Amino acid sequence: MTSKSPDSQLMEKIVSLCKRRGFIFQSSEIYGGLNGLWDYGPLGVELKRNLKNYWWQVTVHERDDVIGMDGSILTHPAVLKASGHVEGFSDPMIDCRTCKAHFRADQLVEKKGIKQCPNCGGKDLTAPRQFNLMFETHVGAATDESSIAYLRPETAQSIFVQFKNILEVSRKKLPFGIAQIGKAFRNEINPRNFTFRSREFEQMEIEYFCRAEQGMELLEYWKEERLTFYEKIGIPRTKLHVLTVPDNERAFYSKGTYDIEYDFPFGRQELEGVAYRTDYDLSQHQKASGKSLEYFDEETKQRFVPHVVEPSAGVDRTVLALICEAYSEDQAPDEKGKMETRIVLRFHPRMAPIKCGVFPLLKNNSQLVAKAKEIVSLLRPHMTVFYDESGAIGRRYRRQDEVGTPFGVTVDFETLGEKDAARRDTVTLRDRDSMKQERVAIQDLPAILRDRLA
Ligand code: ATP
Repeated sequence: MTSKSPDSQLMEKIVSLCKRRGFIFQSSEIYGGLNGLWDYGPLGVELKRNLKNYWWQVTVHERDDVIGMDGSILTHPAVLKASGHVEGFSDPMIDCRTCKAHFRADQLVEKKGIKQCPNCGGKDLTAPRQFNLMFETHVGAATDESSIAYLRPETAQSIFVQFKNILEVSRKKLPFGIAQIGKAFRNEINPRNFTFRSREFEQMEIEYFCRAEQGMELLEYWKEERLTFYEKIGIPRTKLHVLTVPDNERAFYSKGTYDIEYDFPFGRQELEGVAYRTDYDLSQHQKASGKSLEYFDEETKQRFVPHVVEPSAGVDRTVLALICEAYSEDQAPDEKGKMETRIVLRFHPRMAPIKCGVFPLLKNNSQLVAKAKEIVSLLRPHMTVFYDESGAIGRRYRRQDEVGTPFGVTVDFETLGEKDAARRDTVTLRDRDSMKQERVAIQDLPAILRDRLA
């Protein structure tokens, strides 16, 4: 019997919880799945939206200097030629001639030396060759060279090629940023670690344009902003690490790059890259398109191509980090007071897919049920609410703990005023983490919960 490391056991528990409770499913699962592709279920989509909405709120809505856009996924080949992706967006690949598996050469070297196939132990390996990660397709009826288009490998390029239009319509002055959230596609050689390395994923990117002399300072600024963001969604600073990418590993045009990494159960891995890309991208597109992408500075009457600092975060990787960070097990009493293991996702309330569970103590009492449904209607305009009337109340709490619902409201006979008229229209409000219960008036619920969710 092989014994698994505690961390790989933890990952297995997380993957299984994600499927069992509807966070993440394998894509096309009933047909055996497609490697590197995932679907988000009813709770996963809420979690993902909370993350994207919060990012958009703090990045775009709460700032005067950042505006948004939403670009197309199918991309003109000229864009990706100019950016260097057609020529150079590749990883070194090695094949095993025995079992036909493919590997990323850099990861093989890192792990086991390059001598043996990690899949079958075979020794007959090809020399590394460059494998372009872009997905190619054809636009229109013809399927020849002239109709080639690519699924974008990053959201950034559509920002660069729309730079001039957005500058004109927004009339922003440097420094300012353009933000985008959207899908990106990479034909990764070895998708792995659940959703961490997928072939289709979402990015949240800011291209923050500035003068050359502001580049290095803004790189520091954005690194700090982004660290603060992760803390605000519940990822503690102690689990985040800033890697200064060494000169020889940085893109040749970058004057400085930080990787923000998180301690996943499978190791310390990149969540986001923050890179000072100089004026490389805009200059390349200006050259290739023949259109001016310059900025005119009213004060100095100078024209120049702006420089750019890019914080580029992965939605799916951050969702995975949120789930890994939230996952915990503790001991809680069952119905009979016996201690049992409780699985609880300790999401920051801001990120939790469901904010509040509402439970009538008994489902066959029409007054309790009616009151509980009234509370659902009262809360729904403010937050996501889940109504559950089936099973013992302790089981219902556990089900919500397991998906990270921070609050639970129970309607009981006291709510109906049967025991004590002074307690009429009050409910118990239970806290997921402390499991403490307090008695609050129904009419105060929206304000109390809104306050605690913020
Ligand atoms: P890696 O070295 O892990 O392949 P990268 O450095 O190529 O990543 P970038 O090109 O900097 O990644 O992309 C920015 C962000 O997009 C990454 O920090 C990550 O969050 C996300 N991302 C990139 N590739 C993937 C992928 N295959 N699956 C999920 N997210 C990804």
